[in-house]
This record gives sequence, structure tokens and C-alpha cells, in this order.
Amino acid sequence: MRDLRVEVPIGGRRVAAVDGVDFDLAAGESLAVVGESGCGKTLLARALLGLAPEGARVSGSISIGGRELVGSSAEEWRRVRGKEIALVFQEPASAFDPVATVGAQIVEAVRAHRKVARSEARRIAIERLREVGFPDPARGMAEYPHRLSGGLKQRAFLAMALASDPAILVADEPTTALDATVAAQVLELLDRLRLGRRLTLLLITHDLGTVATHADRVIVMYAGRVVEEARAVDLFREPRHPYTRALLASLPRLSARTRNAARRFDAIPGVVPDLASRPAGTCSFAPRCPERFDPCDSDEPTLYPAGESIARCFLYDPRLRS
Ligand code: SF4
Repeated sequence: MRDLRVEVPIGGRRVAAVDGVDFDLAAGESLAVVGESGCGKTLLARALLGLAPEGARVSGSISIGGRELVGSSAEEWRRVRGKEIALVFQEPASAFDPVATVGAQIVEAVRAHRKVARSEARRIAIERLREVGFPDPARGMAEYPHRLSGGLKQRAFLAMALASDPAILVADEPTTALDATVAAQVLELLDRLRLGRRLTLLLITHDLGTVATHADRVIVMYAGRVVEEARAVDLFREPRHPYTRALLASLPRLSARTRNAARRFDAIPGVVPDLASRPAGTCSFAPRCPERFDPCDSDEPTLYPAGESIARCFLYDPRLRS
């Protein structure tokens, strides 16, 4: 992805809700995109799938295997989706037709991208259900979506997403609606699929705990822009951007002194800026930043190298270092 920009109509004008995002994804890699609600991460994922909302204008470059996708027709995007890149999100129920069986829907997904007989599509569907840990896959084929638990519904959704062997899976808050134990199982399953299939994973989440254990690299977004990019291990060891530091400080944690009871966390003061009135020419995080200094209100930082990471913050501007 290069210089990706998604402009959406707000209050009679176009506002860049995703603004100049660059990243590379290697085969088999897991990249997490994190940030608070409204930071642009879901819109970024939708743009990557050619599913930007109506009225949005997407510019820049999205290239998969050397093929440019920005500017593709709806029909071209439809062919890419499912075949090369697939999506799972937090509400699997809305992905299914409630009056058709899970099996029928996975069979249909297989046949949408492959010219195979119905019997072969059924065999593939059962295989996918087995792969995602569905108990008794052959029987599971006959189930209706509403009869499945949240965890099984998410597994069935994954089986459908994998129906045509995509190279990239975009998982948008895949575990938000699940309880902690089931969420952990689904994340483990994603790891297994990634390793077994060399599946590339783009994980959209607000949950830094998920990032710590399931991502190789992380992009932190704020107000539509990338503010830090780092290997996951570096992000947790030495977060560079003040926003990343604030996000990490806001994670609930056990107090060292009263480890069995007290939970402490620091809220980030203020709110994510309204994109329509985002001030230009300053750091977007300045109103909430405890490390704000002279240039922050009069100039806009770019991305600077910060150790092994990159951060959009004047603290790393080599011109300002003494
Ligand atoms: S540029 Fe300034 S205000 Fe923005 S994050 Fe860095 S220190 Fe804080």
C-alpha cells in the first residue's frame, strides 16, 4: 500500500479519514493495525478489500502480487475478494444468510471462485470446516447459522473466508464479540492457519493484548495517519510515539504491590479529533500529548526513524536533536 488516501464526505466536504498510509505485507506475515475508534483502521481495511463506503474516494496504490487495484472496477474487485484476499469481522452472523445451512453457503463460496462440481465443492467445504476445528464437520454442514455458538459461528465464517484459498486474510476485530476463552481459541486458530497455509494476516484491533501475542509487526494509527510502525516486540519494549506510550499505559494491569486485587490503568486525556475539524499544520496528537513542545503547535511532524521503528513525532526529528 502506498500513500493510500480515503476521503469521505462529511458536512458537505471531503475529509481524508485515511491519509497517506504506506505499508508492505510479506507472505505469511501478521501485521496488526491498532488505534482507538475513529482512527481510520477499519476504513483502511475496507479500502484494501475494495469495500470503501459509497461516496468515498480512494487514491494512492494498493498492489497485490504486483497487480494494481486502486481504480479497479466493481467486477475486478469482486474477483480479487475471496480469491486473493478475504475478510472476517466481529459479527459473523451478518455474513451468513440465516435461511441457508452453513454447508450450502461454504459450498457456494467455493464455487464462486472455482469451477468444480458440487460434490467436490462439498468435499472442500467439509475440509475447510475440519481445518478450522469444527467438531464433526460433515454434520456441521447441515447446521443453520443461528444454531451455532459465537465461537463456532466465527469458525464457520473463517471456513467460508478460506473457501477459495486466499493469500491474505483481513481480520477486523475478529474476537471483539467473543468471551475471553473463545477469543483466545480463535486467535490461536488464526496463528495455526497462518503458519500452516503461509497465510498473510492483517489484524485490525483496538486490543493491544492481541497484538502482543499474534502480530509480527504493528502499525499504530491516529486521526487517519500512521503515527508509529514497529516490530511487535519493539513496540512493547520501547514504544516511541507518545500516543503509543499512552495506549500502553491505558492497558489494565495488576499492581505490583497488590498483585491479587488492584487494577490500575491511565486513561488518555481528551478525545480523538473530529476529522472534519482536524487542525492543519500541527501535530494531530498535540492537544492530548504530555510531551508536547515548541514545534508541535506550529508544524506537522512526518515519520522519522526512531531506533528500529518509525514514529510521526518531532521528538525524533534529527533537525531538532542537539
Ligand atoms: S510531535 Fe509533539 S505533540 Fe506530537 S506526539 Fe510528538 S511530542 Fe507530542
